[in-house]
Amino acid sequence: MAVSRSWLARRTEGFTESVIREMTRLNAVHGGINLAQGFPDFPAPAEIKEAAKRAIDADINQYAITWGAPALRMALASTYADLYGMKVDPDTMITTTCGSTEAMVSTLLAIVDPGDEVVVLEPFYENYGPDAAICGATPVFVPLRGPELTFDRDELARAFGPRTKAIIVNTPNNPSGRVFTRDELVFIAELCQKHDAIAVTDEIYEHIKYTGPHIPIATLEGMAERTVTISGASKTFSVTGWRVGWIIAPPALSAGIRKVHDFVTVGAPAPLQEAVAAALSLGRPYYDKLSHDYRVRRDLLVGALERAGFTPRSPEGAYYVLCDIGRFGFPDDVAFARWLVADVGVAGVPGSSFFSRPELGRTTIRFTFCKTAALLNEAAERLAETETRARKRAV
Ligand code: GLN
Repeated sequence: MAVSRSWLARRTEGFTESVIREMTRLNAVHGGINLAQGFPDFPAPAEIKEAAKRAIDADINQYAITWGAPALRMALASTYADLYGMKVDPDTMITTTCGSTEAMVSTLLAIVDPGDEVVVLEPFYENYGPDAAICGATPVFVPLRGPELTFDRDELARAFGPRTKAIIVNTPNNPSGRVFTRDELVFIAELCQKHDAIAVTDEIYEHIKYTGPHIPIATLEGMAERTVTISGASKTFSVTGWRVGWIIAPPALSAGIRKVHDFVTVGAPAPLQEAVAAALSLGRPYYDKLSHDYRVRRDLLVGALERAGFTPRSPEGAYYVLCDIGRFGFPDDVAFARWLVADVGVAGVPGSSFFSRPELGRTTIRFTFCKTAALLNEAAERLAETETRARKRAV
């Protein structure tokens, strides 16, 4: 049948399918070790699983209140007060969502008009590009430079202008592992205030960090009223498939975000919200152990990558490591990643997925270390073959 017009809306043309999830599929085809998509292969804490079972047994099967089960909103309000001294009203300032992925897109849909500019530091988490395209936002990219991966202050200041609606701040950062310092965050906060812009923060890795404290930008002076803080249970409790995330924002912003959220999803899974509420009572000792365990995994993978001839940047937070692959002599990162999973049997994510222009990530690959030591050791054995196999391929 002839199609006389395009059936797909133009907004779908501005982005491609997720490369992260494509690598997971490719990994399955080759039977490789998946160090591409960031999901743990170890169990979630017993407490959260028991709480989920109790909630289902108690027949908590119907819609929760659209902006979140009261128990979860109460638990979040006390968690943010305890950990960060934030005053969060559970009735007007919290929205629970289907993961922080939904949180980000619902937030942007609620605050951005087509043509508004959103500042994004790059490398950036793959989703922010499509999120901007879906909302009709114009992303303005500012590079993180040098081995320190920090932004140039003049360059960031120049990125803000009359059309700037928001900046997305992801700390600890995926994919770079940067944890922004207080000084850096204060500089961003001042720009937001000067230009009447909103800070939209993605803090999903807040409890996975190896240096310094986590500083929510909402705790900086003058920022509570112009910050949308996004986080979730996925990474903290190793439940990425549960899809429980949340948004903390001032009441007026929350009201707009809640409307979008309601009509897009109605709400996050009701029994799982109860389970996350229970898990939040694990508190600091749990978070400390989480970071400690991830540090061990980080050091294992970073060491293996160094020995295998990659040039990894050891992250300060989150569970990814970016590596330079220049020495393996491939034309680009996509060719390398496809070869690596097929020939060496380890999947990573081509670096270009995290940049606005593919050439910026041409010599980069990202691996995740949210895996058991056993699997990371097996990956290490395979990765040790990279150089030899790459040389054979070249002959
Ligand atoms: N955040 C994870 C990553 O970057 C998972 C992405 C996803 O598939 N939602 O790998």
